[in-house]
Amino acid sequence: MSDHCDQNCSSCSENCADRQEQQEDFTEQLHEMSNVDRVIGIISGKGGVGKSLVASMLAVTMNRMGYHTAILDADITGPSIPKAFGLKRKAFGDEYGLLPVRTKTGIDIMSVNLLLENDTDPVIWRGPIVASVVKQFWTEVIWNNVEFLFIDLPPGTGDVPLTVFQSIAVDGIIVVTSPQELVSMIVTKAVKMAEMMDIPIIGLVENMSYFKCPDNGKDYKIFGDSHIEDIADQHNLKVLAKIPIDPNISIACDKGEIEFFEGDWLEPVAQVLEKW
Ligand code: ADP
Repeated sequence: MSDHCDQNCSSCSENCADRQEQQEDFTEQLHEMSNVDRVIGIISGKGGVGKSLVASMLAVTMNRMGYHTAILDADITGPSIPKAFGLKRKAFGDEYGLLPVRTKTGIDIMSVNLLLENDTDPVIWRGPIVASVVKQFWTEVIWNNVEFLFIDLPPGTGDVPLTVFQSIAVDGIIVVTSPQELVSMIVTKAVKMAEMMDIPIIGLVENMSYFKCPDNGKDYKIFGDSHIEDIADQHNLKVLAKIPIDPNISIACDKGEIEFFEGDWLEPVAQVLEKW
């Protein structure tokens, strides 16, 4: 501390120990009736790369392994999780808090679409309101004995990812990418944001990597060569899995049957998460 310290850090450039202590803490407390062991964020540099699919399939894969999993759908303006699981029932609350909706196989889900009267109603809210709803999904929802909570974050590095990283105790994040992101710049931005916020990056998952032709069994790189290994090397990260383009995936999502889809591409990721 400087000899002239007036306890006002905003007018002083000295990086002393007292300044560290005075840094603002934005951490939000989980609902007192909630119990969550591990929180995994799923992010992507841009939309449409399959981030929600990876969040859903990870919850499904770990649920099949015997864990109680849940998804917090933080993609408030583009929520696609309830549809992928075919949820028709709305979420409701009681005097204690808001209860997630449970899927057929026992995965707990909270999404803004479970609260809107019609799931086609648009969410036309400004950034701070959107971010505060995400916080409420953490503080006011009763997450009952959840072993792995997956947060499906909106694409990019905007308000909501920032709020989640600042206010929720995220144990690690998975970055979803696809080969058509030729310019690795967009992925790198997401990776750098996590690094700057001190959130551990578990690794990268490449979606839509290839298409396996059912006629000749050959793999075709529809979106061209992948750059994921280069990006991983640049940031000293692991490539955890590669998921092919499979029309059955989009059919399963459209029909609301993602939890019955057979596909073991994310099992290696689940094994990493078990030990995370
Ligand atoms: P994001 O969350 O990144 O915006 P989604 O997970 O919602 O992307 O996926 C966008 C669309 O692409 C969805 O309709 C989904 O069913 C489809 N899709 C995602 N991954 C695949 C894949 N590997 N094969 C076929 N369709 C896919």
